[in-house]
Amino acid sequence: MASRKNTQLQSEEWFGTMLAPGERATLSVVITQSYAGNNISIPVHVWRGEKRGPTVAVTAAVHGDEINGTGAIRRIIREQPFDVVAGTLVLVPVVNILGFEHCERYLPDRRDLNRSFPGSTGGSLASRMAASFFKQVIKRCNYCIDLHTAALRRTNFPNVRADMSDPKLAEFARAFGAELIVESKGPKGSLRASACKIGCHTLILEAGEVWKVEPTVVEYAVRGITNCLQFLKMIDGTLDEPEYRVETNTTTWVRAKQGGFLEFHVAPGDIVDKDAPIATNTDLVGMQRNVVTAPRDGIVLGMTTIPSVAPGDPICHLAFPRTGTLHKISGVHASLSAKTLHERVRGDLARSMLITQADPQSL
Ligand SMILES: [Zn+2]
Repeated sequence: MASRKNTQLQSEEWFGTMLAPGERATLSVVITQSYAGNNISIPVHVWRGEKRGPTVAVTAAVHGDEINGTGAIRRIIREQPFDVVAGTLVLVPVVNILGFEHCERYLPDRRDLNRSFPGSTGGSLASRMAASFFKQVIKRCNYCIDLHTAALRRTNFPNVRADMSDPKLAEFARAFGAELIVESKGPKGSLRASACKIGCHTLILEAGEVWKVEPTVVEYAVRGITNCLQFLKMIDGTLDEPEYRVETNTTTWVRAKQGGFLEFHVAPGDIVDKDAPIATNTDLVGMQRNVVTAPRDGIVLGMTTIPSVAPGDPICHLAFPRTGTLHKISGVHASLSAKTLHERVRGDLARSMLITQADPQSL
C-alpha cells in the first residue's frame, strides 16, 4: 500500500547536488576534457517546482555561434519572468561550449555536434560530448526546446520546427505560439531527432542570426518558452496566441543564377506572390543583370544577409503553406499593428539590409 509520504515530492539529485521541491540552483555538468586534461563543464540552471510535473530542458548554442537562445535563457535565469510551480525546468545556455569558446558553429575536430547525437562513449570528440550531454540531461527530460539561429550570413524569421506526426509534440509545438511551423523530423544525428526517438518531445526554434543577441528575437523566444511551460501547467498564466498560424512541410531556397550584388525587395516574414520580385542582381557598378522572382506564393522564412552572391548561392528561403492558407492570413498579416511582436521582429530583422522597390520596367 502506498503511504502518503511516497506521494509527496522528495529531494532529487541533479548533477551531484540534492535539490528539494521549490529549489533552484546553477550547477556544473562535466562534458569533456581540454587538451591539458582538465575537466570542461557547462553551467546548467535547474529549477524545481513544489508539485509533480514534467521535466523540460531549454537548450541553446548546440551550434556554438548561435547565441540568441543563450540570451533568452540568461534573461529567464536573471529576471525570473515566471515561477515554476510544478515539474522541473533545466536551462542550458550553451551546450557546445568548445565551439562557443571560439565563436564557431563546430567543434575543434570540425564536426557538427548537432549531427552527433545520441553519441557514443567510444566515438569521436563530438560523439563523446553528445553522449555525455544526452545521458546526463536529455534522458531525464520529457520535453526539450532547442534554440537555434540561421547559419552564418543568413537570418531567419522566427519559426518552430517539429515532427507534427507526433501528437504530443504537435500540441507542444502549437503551444509555443509561433506564426510559422515547419513540419520536419530533423536531420539524422540532431539533438531534436535523437531526443524524439527516446520519447523526449523536442522542437527547435530557428530565429535571427549568429553572433548576436537580438532583442526582439529574445523576446520571441522567451514568449514561446513561457507559453510552452503554461501549456504543461508548470507555470501559471494563459497562453499568448500567435497572430496567425501557418504549418507547412514544403520550403525551398531561391538561388542566384549569376554572380553579382543584390538589392533586396522582400524582408524576413514577408508574404510574396508567385513571380513577385525578391531581389535585383546587379554588377558592381549597379547595372542590372537580372531580377530574381518567387517561384510560387509563399512566406519569407529566411534570407541571406550578404548582398554579394555567386551562381547557386542561396538568396531567400521560402515556405509554401497549403493552398488557400496564404489567402486566409494575408489580411491579418497586412493589418498587424506596428506594436505587435510579429511586426517589431520583422522590422528589426530587415534593419541591416538594403530593401528597395523593384524597378517596374525590369519586371
Ligand atoms: Zn543551429
